[in-house]
Amino acid sequence: MRIDKILSDDKLHISFEVFPQKYGQPIEPILNTVEEISKLHPAFCSVTYGANGGASENTVKVASHIKNELNTPTLAHLTCVGSSKDDLDEKLVQLKENNIQNILALRGDIIDKEKFANKEDLLYASELIEYIKSNYDFCVGAACYPEVHPESKNQNEDINYLKLKQDMGADFITTQMFFDNSIFYNFMYKLRSAGVSIPVVAGIMPVTNVNQLKKIKELSNANIPSKFLSIADKFQDDKDSMKQAGIIYACNQIIDLISNGVNNIHIYTMNNASVAKQIMQNMSHIVNHKF
Ligand code: FAD
Repeated sequence: MRIDKILSDDKLHISFEVFPQKYGQPIEPILNTVEEISKLHPAFCSVTYGANGGASENTVKVASHIKNELNTPTLAHLTCVGSSKDDLDEKLVQLKENNIQNILALRGDIIDKEKFANKEDLLYASELIEYIKSNYDFCVGAACYPEVHPESKNQNEDINYLKLKQDMGADFITTQMFFDNSIFYNFMYKLRSAGVSIPVVAGIMPVTNVNQLKKIKELSNANIPSKFLSIADKFQDDKDSMKQAGIIYACNQIIDLISNGVNNIHIYTMNNASVAKQIMQNMSHIVNHKF
């Protein structure tokens, strides 16, 4: 099913992200993970694309399994950096042949700056979105950054380029993870004022061990509120308590979002089906509330 269609009603939509196995690694663990996650009846399940296209075939395999074997709507991520249009066409045809209807169109992180500068192919996500929309019939999502993309000069510039993604045909956007809902609410106000009107899916990352915090700092601009830093400080040496506290923190964020009318929530699972399961158990009544 197309995600634009799924998000078009007023119901609560909770979705999950997984990443595929690296090249040479067995596929079974991730297939087991998505089987567990599918039992939670997510609105959809997304599958990331390796940096610079690494292990991209695995993205297709995992996404295909979710869609065709588990009957769960799926979203396959696709990046354009470092890929020619021929490479992209090959991937897009593969996705089509596997009945995948939804793509999260991304630029990807630039690893080789010189290669990026000389490239005549697609340089930005907006160009990838335009290319997909002009040549294929996919529902296309895009990424956005409540705390500004690390390469952007400022938030206005970032939001203008986001508006361009909508103008090129993006059907919905998913946010980078954030840990302070007030940042998200401010961002939403600015987005809507700038004319970005497509559905926004709020990205929530349950941080269940302190090593994840270091990675988050490296990969995103996300502010870690002092409230969460105290939790990490207190429980860093106690694995089970840290996991429980991280899940409860994420649930509190989700409940606050829902209470403020945010019905589209995407959970970065880090391939941990038990975290996804506990979140859904903690919210068993809330998800069945009449929206
Ligand atoms: P863009 O929208 O192209 O923006 C990149 C930068 O360029 C921004 O600073 C933007 O303001 C600027 N910009 C945009 N258009 C222009 C223009 N025309 N001229 C000048 N500047 C411009 N990475 C992966 O490798 N695989 C994944 O599966 C993956 N999944 C992700 C999922 C989500 C929800 C998010 C938020 C990120 C994900 N990423 C993934 C990371 C993403 O690839 C990086 O953040 C990347 O650096 C930017 O991608 P983008 O699509 O947002 O790029």
